[in-house]
Amino acid sequence: MFRQFSLPLARPLETARGTIDERRGFIFARNGGVGEATPLPDWTEPLDACERALEAADDADNWDDALAACEDAPAARHAVSLAKLDAEARDKGVSLTRSLADDPVESVPVNATVGDGSIEATAAEARAAVERGFETVKLKVGARSVEADTERLRAVNDETDATLRADANSAWTREQARKAFDAFADFDIEYVEQPLPAEDLAGHADLRGGETDVALDESLTEHALADALDAADYVVLKPMALGGVDRALDAARAARDAGVEPVVTTTVDAVVARTAAVHLAAAIPDVPACGLATADRLADDLAADPALVEDGRIRVPEAPGHGVSIDLAEVNADA
Ligand SMILES: [Mg+2]
Repeated sequence: MFRQFSLPLARPLETARGTIDERRGFIFARNGGVGEATPLPDWTEPLDACERALEAADDADNWDDALAACEDAPAARHAVSLAKLDAEARDKGVSLTRSLADDPVESVPVNATVGDGSIEATAAEARAAVERGFETVKLKVGARSVEADTERLRAVNDETDATLRADANSAWTREQARKAFDAFADFDIEYVEQPLPAEDLAGHADLRGGETDVALDESLTEHALADALDAADYVVLKPMALGGVDRALDAARAARDAGVEPVVTTTVDAVVARTAAVHLAAAIPDVPACGLATADRLADDLAADPALVEDGRIRVPEAPGHGVSIDLAEVNADA
């Protein structure tokens, strides 16, 4: 069975197709396992296509046919594959991460994200994150000039001990990106995420080799993983966009084999998918700080969160499966 839900966002989310103020998706349940599909425009199939794929999966006689019904719908496939993994792990009495890896870690480091703002607001938000225990802070850049973003990074670098990342969300031209990488070389920035448009793999490859590494995020929607791995030092893996935790783990292992570091993040998902992403991250040895501290982007959620952020880390739930207890009768779009 599956049920639709709608959750209000704590603050609007900017997407390439405009601003959204709620996350709509589906909880899919089968054989005692529970999964989540929360489509996001430009990253996955639209909501109606997701619903059609889940209907077909729900009608299927077995897991293989259910998964096959979602082959062209990554968010739907995320839900069905997660329900399967959850059911299998619960049957074995082990946590999801223990069913994915022999020796998972007990907690994963996560980054704080600081949005666009003045120098003062940026530094204050970064200081507050560090005081809450975050060791890695990611600044959104690209909304103002390269010079202005450089001063924002300088302020955070001067005022905190945090490891810095910047995410440009495809905002720059090649010239602006080169200027930014030259200016940022002063600050020991771990990486700049998606400096250039998603399609421009060659431009990203050209930015590599200096002080600051290149991470690809949006490019993974436009290019095969193998091609993206040739142009990046880091890849940002979103299980919902990749079609499931299983596929994201395959991608993380392929990245490591290619000498590229995988970072796991969400598409601002509800508690089931977010917690599953924590289990995935824990299955990646020595995973870098991940973008999994996204629960506070939602004003409400489907169930209690078993994987809270504490001191810049998330402890992986040890209960069987993903560890989210959800009352399906309570899930509905009008909640
Ligand atoms: Mg990003």
